[in-house]
Amino acid sequence: MTMFADLHLHSHFSDGTYSPEEVVSHAQKHGLAALALTDHDTIEGCVRAAQACAAAGIEFIAGTELTAEQEGNELHLLGYLVDIDNPRLLAETAKFQMVRQNRIREIVARLNQAKVALDAEEVFALANCRAPGRPHVARALVQAGLCSSLDEAFERFLRRNRPAWVPKFKMSAADAIELIHHARGMAVLAHPGLNRFDEVIPDMVDAGLDGIECFHSKHSTSTAEHYLELADRFHLLVTGGSDCHGMNKGKPLIGTVKLPYQHVAQLKARAARRAAEEGSTRSLNGSQ
Ligand SMILES: [Zn+2]
Ligand SMILES: [Zn+2]
Repeated sequence: MTMFADLHLHSHFSDGTYSPEEVVSHAQKHGLAALALTDHDTIEGCVRAAQACAAAGIEFIAGTELTAEQEGNELHLLGYLVDIDNPRLLAETAKFQMVRQNRIREIVARLNQAKVALDAEEVFALANCRAPGRPHVARALVQAGLCSSLDEAFERFLRRNRPAWVPKFKMSAADAIELIHHARGMAVLAHPGLNRFDEVIPDMVDAGLDGIECFHSKHSTSTAEHYLELADRFHLLVTGGSDCHGMNKGKPLIGTVKLPYQHVAQLKARAARRAAEEGSTRSLNGSQ
């Protein structure tokens, strides 16, 4: 029997609407053998997701999705199999969460300047998480009756070049890869088909990139094939996931992307190989 995984899922610990337990129960309904929780700039949901997965007989991969940039382009880096107790990963994600909260305050200040009467506290109450983002502002605008839909909120106020646009602080892609590696994780470029900055990929490979998310709910078959070719050319791991945010975009995407389990096995094998290599370098250094 072929087994499948979804390695890109969000919970309400970032901008998804499901709890980690709900994410797992949906995964179970779709018959997934493994899943990764990849909330933006946080690993907080991983403990609960791991427990729910254990109870459901689903293999859990600890993950996160870090916001980064390369040559002025925003990129998302997925970190898989990270140590969720790693002090530096915890400190850095806490810093990004603070940056996100300050950004929400700035977005709301700009909305107020544009005569839109929203309170930042309304956004924080609705988000109810440490990693709030623009989707939460959009939801707050709809909830307050100030916009009729999330799309309208983005189109009128929240998109780049709109009145409430606030640029996001981002670390460099190389720093994100280094942080993921420091936490013993594997660094994977998320949904490259949405960004289309393929020219930055070789530099990221030099910085230690481990994989590319070839399969994604917004990648067409030809886009997936294009990135499978790139993964092959640069000897990168292949991953995939739905990027489900729960009910955020109207309908849940979980189940729309089913990654054959062999890719999960390859991801784990590469991580194990690296851990073994690092272990042997350490003991070599130790014996000197
Ligand atoms: Zn993303
Ligand atoms: Zn995502």
